[in-house]
Amino acid sequence: MRKHIVAGNWKMNNDLKATKKLVKQIRKSIKKADLSNTRVIVAPTFVNLATAVKRTKKSKIEVVAQNMHQASNGAFTGEISAKMLKSIGVKTVILGHSERRAYFGETDALLAEKVNAALENKLEVIFCFGEELSDRKENNQEGVVKSQIKNALFHLDADAFKNIVLAYEPVWAIGTGETASPEQAQDMHAFIRKTLSDKYGEEVANTVSILYGGSVKPGNAKEIFSKPDVDGGLIGGAALKAEDFFAIVNAF
Ligand code: PGA
Repeated sequence: MRKHIVAGNWKMNNDLKATKKLVKQIRKSIKKADLSNTRVIVAPTFVNLATAVKRTKKSKIEVVAQNMHQASNGAFTGEISAKMLKSIGVKTVILGHSERRAYFGETDALLAEKVNAALENKLEVIFCFGEELSDRKENNQEGVVKSQIKNALFHLDADAFKNIVLAYEPVWAIGTGETASPEQAQDMHAFIRKTLSDKYGEEVANTVSILYGGSVKPGNAKEIFSKPDVDGGLIGGAALKAEDFFAIVNAF
């Protein structure tokens, strides 16, 4: 059975004080929750990762990074490597978020390198991808998603997928209030699983968790999570309020 995952992507929000406060609130709220089959993840900014890791010790909260550089070290001013993340106790990294692709020019080829670097350093990867509105208008969403997955991940062997979580995030639904309907999400997730199955076989396809992201909130999480191929959510805006985030964690 695949684990459910609710991951809060804090993006460039929450300074040190706000990070401590939100971590504390989430810790408190999940204390009594039944998390036997649910992973609760938060992704603060780089500067607050070490604090968040320390303050979530002995709790069920996992602290992950929002990005990393593909090189292991060297003259890359302002960048952070997989080894550095590992050294402070981070075990997972989000790669390929649409904001990284759109504002920082991250291409499929670069993401393939980042994925390799993460896996070589034994970091789990939450790999994001998704079509833009124009792709969907042209009914080309499946073509776009397939090529994003293929270009960044299909050089890997089947075993690597034990350390990969996929996050389907249609760009038109991120931070817009516009959500893919539960049916649109299910259709795409089933397509993604088939794409994996065609390449790696059913066994691998059935064990990879596929998250949905894009304006998930307490009011729509239950319906989206009820779909058979949706294994959880990557949450932006609604992850910044402990109450909303907890309601989404409880939507399973
Ligand atoms: P949103 O962001 O929930 O605010 O739409 C999701 C994401 O970017 O991961």
